[in-house]
Amino acid sequence: MGLMFVRLRSFALFLPIKIGGLNWFFVRDWKHSEDRRIDDWGFAVSNLRIPSNAYRLRLLIVVAGGLGLGWLGGLMNPDLRHPRNDFFVPDGTAFDEAMSRVTHLGIVSHQDDLEIAAYHGITECFHTVDRWFGGVVVTNGAGSPRKGDYASYTDEEMQDVRRVEQRKAAYVGEYAFAAQLGYPSEMVKEPQQADVVADLTFILETCAPEVVYLHNPCDRHDTHVATFWRCIEALRRLPKERRPAKVYGCEVWRKLDWLLAEDKVMLKVDKHPHLLRPLLGVFDSQISGGKRYDLAEEGLRHANATYFDSHTTDSTSLLTFAMDLTPLVVDDTLDPAEFALGFVRRLEADVGTRLGRFD
Ligand SMILES: [Zn+2]
Repeated sequence: MGLMFVRLRSFALFLPIKIGGLNWFFVRDWKHSEDRRIDDWGFAVSNLRIPSNAYRLRLLIVVAGGLGLGWLGGLMNPDLRHPRNDFFVPDGTAFDEAMSRVTHLGIVSHQDDLEIAAYHGITECFHTVDRWFGGVVVTNGAGSPRKGDYASYTDEEMQDVRRVEQRKAAYVGEYAFAAQLGYPSEMVKEPQQADVVADLTFILETCAPEVVYLHNPCDRHDTHVATFWRCIEALRRLPKERRPAKVYGCEVWRKLDWLLAEDKVMLKVDKHPHLLRPLLGVFDSQISGGKRYDLAEEGLRHANATYFDSHTTDSTSLLTFAMDLTPLVVDDTLDPAEFALGFVRRLEADVGTRLGRFD
């Protein structure tokens, strides 16, 4: 007899139920007129063949199971936006607890940047009970150089290698967590990129770190500078009471020896001197191609300590330099570009004054 409607026009069906040899449907009946919406509910019956109750029960279990797994997945991993994200907690602590214990947080562009730029945070937290280092890598590692053993790797395979290498470093350095957000560089370079900034804001809000390590705005790598901007945008979204007490701009592709002494933050990194080589050594894909970042960074830290001051002996044997970016998160009206150029202008004035003194 087909369908017999309690209400006509249009309808929606929800899981029919067999009662008395008839299939009962829940139907919805609505229409739009110019100034109002009519919305009624009712029942319909049908003798058409429909799936058995047992089949529908199995379907319900499968759907509910899927929803349950999704819910459990949400409990086990933070809600990061890019599908290629990778969140790793070396000691297996639940993600929210792993994040909230963080005191020192590094946010950088690429795999191995943390171990160069935020090395101070890693050594400050290593083997302590009350400090934890959290690491964030914003990009997916696409376009990495592929040399030596890796020459035949596809770009996709190389991204997998780099993801695993970053996890290895997190394990060696006993990080609270390592979050690889998985964005292509081009996305990170978009001003105010909504997903990137939302992920960073979420991480900063959840961790509420005391100290944050970023790329310095005078770096000469485009993606590093773009990451710096996205980080400042995220930091400025935080309520003032959730912002870090200290924000450092650190060295990677432009070292900071050029900063004037009064502008230079000295970060001592001689607590666990044996940690640097294994931390950088796990990035085999970057080093085995012929770039000895491990040796270069160790030498740089010695050189920084020796050349910091010509009048004194080396009070510390290993030193990295940083730019104090804290004013940018204290005063939201400060223009980050002007702030960065201020360091350059003070260097220019210093060079000019010294030259003029003996002219
Ligand atoms: Zn980098």
